Amino acid sequence: MIDQFQRPLHDLRISVTDRCNFRCVYCMPKEVFGKDFAFMERDELLSFEEITRLARISVAHGVEKIRLTGGEPLLRKGIEELVAMLAALHTPDGRPIDIAMTTNGSVLALKAQALKDAGLKRVTVSLDSLDDATFQAMNDVKFPVAKVLTSLDVAHSVGLGPIKINMVLKRGQNDKDVVAMARHFKGTPYILRFIEYMDVGSSNGWEMADVVPSNEVVARINAELPLVEVTPNYNGETSRRWRYRDGGGEIGVISSVTQSFCHSCSRARVSTDGKLFTCLFATEGHDLRALMRGGCTDEQLAAVMKQIWRERTDRYSELRSAETGRLRASGKKRIEMSYIGG
Ligand code: SAM
Ligand code: SF4
Ligand code: SF4
Repeated sequence: MIDQFQRPLHDLRISVTDRCNFRCVYCMPKEVFGKDFAFMERDELLSFEEITRLARISVAHGVEKIRLTGGEPLLRKGIEELVAMLAALHTPDGRPIDIAMTTNGSVLALKAQALKDAGLKRVTVSLDSLDDATFQAMNDVKFPVAKVLTSLDVAHSVGLGPIKINMVLKRGQNDKDVVAMARHFKGTPYILRFIEYMDVGSSNGWEMADVVPSNEVVARINAELPLVEVTPNYNGETSRRWRYRDGGGEIGVISSVTQSFCHSCSRARVSTDGKLFTCLFATEGHDLRALMRGGCTDEQLAAVMKQIWRERTDRYSELRSAETGRLRASGKKRIEMSYIGG
């Protein structure tokens, strides 16, 4: 499946819940996702069977990597059953699928073994600071750093690696912790990745001034812990990699704002309620749940998905300034990260 810019569909991200036990300021700020926020009802969510059906069709047409996300994916009841159902899928030439998950790590220590047993390959754990005051100001629910660190160790010990750690940087909030984080994870089995704060959704009040450019991050680390750039693993890799000159492992930077990677973006996203989005910054998705619940066949579903991907022209990050203006003028709301799946 190739889109209008010759990009294949290779990765599928599935949001399994729009709920989360954190209220990260850059994702689900409390003022918007408060007590009265209407999260989805159970019957609105795709069932595990529906998710697996979409995954199976996608895999038959080129998807090799599936990432479960959310919201907080570990809050979805019985998530390990879904992992097991997805782990049974194979590519047309018989290879297993790469199944990963992005989690905030809050309950990972409890679930890691069951997830591994079910067939999960790897986890990415989000952690924005090692300093409790900073981390708690960012997750906004007073969640302590130590519990996430314990989860990391448990996940590593059961073999859910190589584990990546996502640190979203917000200027003035946690950018002071860049070198401390690098130093802490240098020489460990964990690969730390610094992520530029993005203007996803319509809730986080994003401003360009809040973004810490990856070049600045690399320069700051390099000044204290010398780095050398590593060539990419595969075309379409979103992260630029750097390794420590002294052999202490590597870091990654994801420059979604300052150096977009739309030209190689091979990702589709399925929202919690089964809409297919071909870009993180889309305002509208394609309702696959309605098709499935309306009784369509696998062939019909595959034809719709192929058509959507074939027509795809998304490259929001490459056009960011122009698009931001256009969107604001149109009054359309962008989809929230927790719903579409980060
Ligand atoms: N709850 C899980 C977690 O936090 O890992 C999975 C979902 S979360 C939406 C996925 C990733 O998106 C996390 O690493 C998070 O830090 C990142 N993220 C959320 N909002 C973001 C934003 N505005 N800019 C950049 N990254 C963001
Ligand atoms: Fe929850 Fe993840 Fe969003 Fe934080 S980034 S609010 S943990 S979904
Ligand atoms: Fe892909 Fe859209 Fe992000 Fe560009 S802006 S990299 S097309 S998700």
